Amino acid sequence: MTRRRSEPAGLTVNPIACQAHGMCIELLPELITADPWGYPLIAPGPVPAQLLPLARRAVGACPTMALLLSSPGRHPERDSATAR
Ligand code: SF4
Repeated sequence: MTRRRSEPAGLTVNPIACQAHGMCIELLPELITADPWGYPLIAPGPVPAQLLPLARRAVGACPTMALLLSSPGRHPERDSATAR
């Protein structure tokens, strides 16, 4: 199955891999805030098109590769594994 460009992308965090570095929160405060322990809370819903470049930058900056960008109906971990 190939990804269709018209599908909106969504952000997810792998809670096992996340170590609360906070990089994503600094890079994408429009969509990611911190919980009381510094772990990211992602705004629900698709990433607005104008924020996709910043979302991709936040995904790339995550030191533990815990932040994932995927499309609905797809498996984020599997998507990220095949994208590398
Ligand atoms: S940058 Fe990665 S490890 Fe750090 S808080 Fe965000 S998801 Fe977690």
